[in-house]
Amino acid sequence: MRYPAVEINTSIITHNVREIREESKQHGVELMGVTKGILAHPQVIQAYLDGGLSKMGDARIQNVKRIRDYGFLGEITLLRAPMVKEISDVVDFVDISLNTEMETLALLNEDAMRKGKRHKYIVMVDVGDRREGVLPEEVKAFVLTAQKYESLDFWGLGLNVGCFGGVLPTKENTGILVTLKEEIEREGIQVPVISGGSTCSLPLLYRGELPKEVTELRVGEGFLNGFDSVGDEPIPGAQQNAFKLYAQIIEIKKRPSIPKGTIGRDAFGYVPTFQDKGTRERAIAAVGKQDVILDAVRPDDSRVTIEGASSDHLILDITESEGAYKIGDVMRFSLGYGGILLAMTSPYVHKYIAKGQG
Ligand SMILES: *Cc1c(COP(=O)(O)O)cnc(C)c1O
Repeated sequence: MRYPAVEINTSIITHNVREIREESKQHGVELMGVTKGILAHPQVIQAYLDGGLSKMGDARIQNVKRIRDYGFLGEITLLRAPMVKEISDVVDFVDISLNTEMETLALLNEDAMRKGKRHKYIVMVDVGDRREGVLPEEVKAFVLTAQKYESLDFWGLGLNVGCFGGVLPTKENTGILVTLKEEIEREGIQVPVISGGSTCSLPLLYRGELPKEVTELRVGEGFLNGFDSVGDEPIPGAQQNAFKLYAQIIEIKKRPSIPKGTIGRDAFGYVPTFQDKGTRERAIAAVGKQDVILDAVRPDDSRVTIEGASSDHLILDITESEGAYKIGDVMRFSLGYGGILLAMTSPYVHKYIAKGQG
């Protein structure tokens, strides 16, 4: 193994997919496998397929192409509204895109028509998180106006919460889509899909509070990490340890715990603060902010604490580990979703599939 490395246990991911699918099936909800957190890694896509998923989604067109390169011919949804230069690729590689702007729909329609193709779109509704979406009071008019695009098919309504505003999904805010669906169907327009949210809506489903009109959820973190970061709780039956980070120790020295000299800003423009803990045994692991998000990394050795990091150095306090480490040793870390996402997308981090897997 070369370091830093992320090791992926694909059978845990498959297990998580099976567990969550079992529950969702009972509520009549289909699940989309979201691949943006893992750079659409082929073996993770395979783990999704092994778990029984048949629909994929990603926010980036590059990842959509990776999914197609893997040979996946099923339904792919683009989770972020297309940029102008992406329109042609979206029509070519994506079945359904999430949209919020009439101008973008006009471009999609034009491109699809020129190619003699059809493209489906879901209208995203802002039910309160204040990231993307048409405001609820404008949705019906938006959908009616968009009916003029002959090469596009209106495929339904979607919502996203828990991302920008950190708003939790509820029966009430999810229910806004149900009301809108009824309004739109009264105009004689079918609404086949209600895309009711992401991992953070799973607890609602498990509690039986997800409105029955919701047809699908778009899940990344739940499958990959077995956890709902927005609600800050594990998903029942799912496991949290599919991804492990490994980093090699390149320095061990006893040193004072507080810097000496006038404090300016650190390399990222922040003013650091320190607590004087006396002289401590410090280790540097060869991994940094270009590879992981500090908040989403935890040493598996509970005697070790993370003191901070710069772009390429992770500063660890190993005093309590009492000589357990030497230069060249490899330390193992658990990753939160943000850590998985950064480690999987960093070109500096080697990716391995756990032995006996895939
Ligand atoms: C990232 C994303 C998802 C998946 O979110 P998870 O928290 O990983 O389940 C779903 N929908 C949209 C629009 C997204 O951007």
